[in-house]
Parts: sequence; C-alpha cells; structure tokens
Amino acid sequence: MQIVLLGPPGSGKGTQAKILARQLGVPHISTGDLFRQHLHEGTPLGVAARRYLDAGTLVPDDVTESMVRARIQEPDARVGFILDGFPRNLSQAQHFETILSDLERALSVVIYLAVQRHTLMMRLTGRRVCPQCGALYHVQFNPPLTQGLCNVCGAQLAQRPDDREDTVATRLSVYDAETKPLIDFYRQRGLLQEIDGELPVDAVTQSIGGALAMSHD
Ligand code: AMP
Repeated sequence: MQIVLLGPPGSGKGTQAKILARQLGVPHISTGDLFRQHLHEGTPLGVAARRYLDAGTLVPDDVTESMVRARIQEPDARVGFILDGFPRNLSQAQHFETILSDLERALSVVIYLAVQRHTLMMRLTGRRVCPQCGALYHVQFNPPLTQGLCNVCGAQLAQRPDDREDTVATRLSVYDAETKPLIDFYRQRGLLQEIDGELPVDAVTQSIGGALAMSHD
C-alpha cells in the first residue's frame, strides 16, 4: 500500500498514520518529523529548514522532494509507505508523480481527513508531544496519566514551538493557499477518499479501513 494522508495541520494525520503503519506493516513517513529530526541532529538540512519550521511556512520544494525521494527508497519503504505531510502543494504533487514513475511505483489511495477550522485551532494549541518517543497527547482530549509526563517513557511533555497560536494561524493559511488544491488534484485522478476527521480517533481509523478496502476493489 502506498498511501498519502492529506488534510490540514491538526486533522489527525500523524495519529492515524501511526496506527495504520502498525496495522499494515509499512513505515509512517512524516516530512515534518524528518525535518524536526534533522533539526535536532543539527544536520545541514536541519539548519536550512529551521527558519521555515519556526515560521510555519513551507521548506523549499527541491529540499523536501529530494528528502522524500531518498526516504521512500529505503528498504523498509519498498513494500509501501504512509506519507504524512507530503505532498503539500501542487508542484510537490506533480514532482511526486515523476518520482513514483521513475521508481515504477504508483499511489494506491489518498485519504483526505476533513476537519473544520475551529476544531483544528483547539486541537493544535492543546497538543503536547513527547520529545523522547514521539507519543502525542492533548491537554483536554487525551491528557497523560500524570500531568506533563509521557505515559510511555516518563519524559517531560513539550509543546511544539509551531503549535503556538500565532504560528498555527500561519500554518492554517499556508494549508488553505497551498495544500487545499491537492484535494481536487487527487479527486480528478480518482485517488481521493474523503473521511470525516471530526469523529473520535477509533471511528476515523475504522472509516479509513473501509476506504482502503474499497481502494483495493
Ligand atoms: P508538520 O509536522 O507536517 O505540521 O510539518 C511541520 C513543518 O515542517 C511545516 O510547517 C513545514 O515548515 C515543514 N514541512 C513539512 N512537510 C513539508 C512539505 N511537504 N513541504 C514543505 N515543508 C514541509
């Protein structure tokens, strides 16, 4: 399965991708996570990406595209992948078609998680992450057992700098201007499956399961 998860920041792509990756035995490839990892390790790519991540704007296409091209050729991704956060504009989507055809591969399905703006604001500003193991929480909807600490590894939870209110607003406008057109792009190609992302996590997972089964037929 070669799956793209499409949707605004806060629509649940990361949460669902982690679940699906476990169920399907394919890697979850999040371009945001890859950039944050480079940043953490202080690689040249991380240094170059920093100002875009801090501002909530897009890292230049050539940098992002070559990172994805390399990642999907790693051995674990040869059986498939779940892409989260890529492609994020029309040019990346077009270039991604070239990458896939160069590699003689094709997308199976694009899952679009539809969520309203006020829900996204609430989800993003309340989101907390474990810097150590990547587990996701929400101060209101999915709090950790002990306030401020990760259930899995006990590390101190943090707020992603770009989940603060002013940067969230920028990220949502970037989504509207750059990423939203991909809904039609993939619909026209007969690849799009729209899912109600407002539902609880389990219900969304179930709907995605249904959509994947349909895309097999
Ligand atoms: P995310 O974790 O998906 O919300 O991504 C966090 C940040 O990483 C974004 O605000 C961008 O700065 C950068 N980023 C992630 N994916 C892409 C992409 N496909 N193209 C350009 N920038 C990206």
